[in-house]
Amino acid sequence: MINTTEVGAVKLAALGEVMVELAPQASVQGQADGGRPLLAQSYAGDTYNTAVYIARGGVSVSYVTLLGDDPYSEEVLTRLAAEGIDTSAIARLPGRCPGLYMIQNTPDGERYFTYWRGEAPARELFADPTRREALKNHLLQMDCLYLSGITLAIMSAEARAELLAFLAAYRAQGGWVAFDSNYRPRLWASADAAREVVAQFLQQADMALLTFEDEQALWGDKRPGSCVKRNSGFGVTELVIKRGAEPVLLQVDGALTAIDVPPVSSVVDTTGAGDSFNAGYLAARLQGASPEQSIAAGNRCAARVIGHRGAIIPRADYMTAQQIQDCTGSAQVVTMV
Ligand code: ADP
Repeated sequence: MINTTEVGAVKLAALGEVMVELAPQASVQGQADGGRPLLAQSYAGDTYNTAVYIARGGVSVSYVTLLGDDPYSEEVLTRLAAEGIDTSAIARLPGRCPGLYMIQNTPDGERYFTYWRGEAPARELFADPTRREALKNHLLQMDCLYLSGITLAIMSAEARAELLAFLAAYRAQGGWVAFDSNYRPRLWASADAAREVVAQFLQQADMALLTFEDEQALWGDKRPGSCVKRNSGFGVTELVIKRGAEPVLLQVDGALTAIDVPPVSSVVDTTGAGDSFNAGYLAARLQGASPEQSIAAGNRCAARVIGHRGAIIPRADYMTAQQIQDCTGSAQVVTMV
């Protein structure tokens, strides 16, 4: 990878969707207006969360999506800019507005998500030929592209095929592609359709940062071994499998190891755990850390995020770029049998 300690020298573009989020405020839930919760309004989305946290890790980040011309789209741009993220590749569609989702908390601590995103402008990613050519030129300036199964699920089949072909050309020029499958069944016509598309993109991924639970849901894996084998078959040379508090599995060039996750004393909200892990991993890795060191960085970033409520935690509570770069030697490696 690129060996540099100069903040902002490495460039990454994250592609996907950011949504308006409405979440009940825990402190007042059930008290306001005859039992209905007060709602806190924010913004979130898997690639958006990761983009924010990678930027905090010292990487120069461009977020790539489509927004509308409404006040919420305006605020997304303001928030991205406040994180130092380049918004120049974000197209605006007149008369449109971002997707929305609501979180419901049940008394037993479960969370339910309801989405209104069918007409979100982000669904037109890579669809318009003129915008696509300009976007390709922008992406070719990047050291790494980051996308997820959600990015793919919301795109049209034609746009996906264009993106897939572009990734092959991008990699041929030395660019790196990082991918998290983030399987969300409701976004796909069928599991078969999801498997077909995800398999195609894994074959164009240099780094796959997968969550075992999602892999099980998508592929029916009983054990991590089958997940490792399948991804090796796709040609993924750097494979990371997240398993909550269980050791993270890492396979680099065929050598499989398991790396412990340090215990987190108070897990408040696991929203954004995988997204922030990916951000810590990529920020460290793209700035010269080894895969093992990068897993230590990913674990520590995720630990901060799950210790707080919400997908995006305040900057003061997150790791600094320096702390991420200092995440060396803290990985405990156990070689698998
Ligand atoms: P996802 O958010 O995609 O479901 P995981 O639940 O596998 O991802 O978690 C991603 C990472 O977050 C883990 O690899 C670990 O670093 C951290 N993490 C998640 N849950 C815990 C936990 N209970 N204790 C400590 N770390 C955790």
